[in-house]
Amino acid sequence: MERILVSSCLAGLRVRYDGAAKPVGADLFEHWRAEGRLVPFCPEVSGGLPIPRRPAEIVGGGGGDVLDGTARILTDAGGDVTDEFLRGARLALETARRTGARIALLKEGSPSCGSHRIYDGTFTGGRQPGTGVTTALLQRAGIEVFDETDLEAVQTYLTTLEH
Ligand code: SF4
Repeated sequence: MERILVSSCLAGLRVRYDGAAKPVGADLFEHWRAEGRLVPFCPEVSGGLPIPRRPAEIVGGGGGDVLDGTARILTDAGGDVTDEFLRGARLALETARRTGARIALLKEGSPSCGSHRIYDGTFTGGRQPGTGVTTALLQRAGIEVFDETDLEAVQTYLTTLEH
């Protein structure tokens, strides 16, 4: 059975920077949970950051640039949390490999988990196209990353892998 690495906050765990969760709450998602497919993982908490924590944004590029050392991740107070984000991304990839997950379902917009949009690094609420650090690392390793708005695409890909 194919496993799905999933952002812990989407699975209902209260791990976000503000101490909240973002449960998907869709029948398909709950079906995967009941099948035992879901592997919840939070890169930021696993990387060593607390709950709650200061909001952080990628400054100077996207997740791939952070992996390449040309962009950093800063909090709204100016603290540098790049190392924690990188550690969390590496642990996410290790978890995917250990569990055999070739699919990830990650929270859109996050500097770790975003797959289409991230905040623009100005802490003004502006967004730009881009991926988070964990997403970028998983994609480089060949793992297909989806966001929570496209569960049907996850199901289609699952079906492709299993047949
Ligand atoms: Fe959710 Fe990912 Fe942020 Fe953790 S790092 S709270 S899993 S979006």
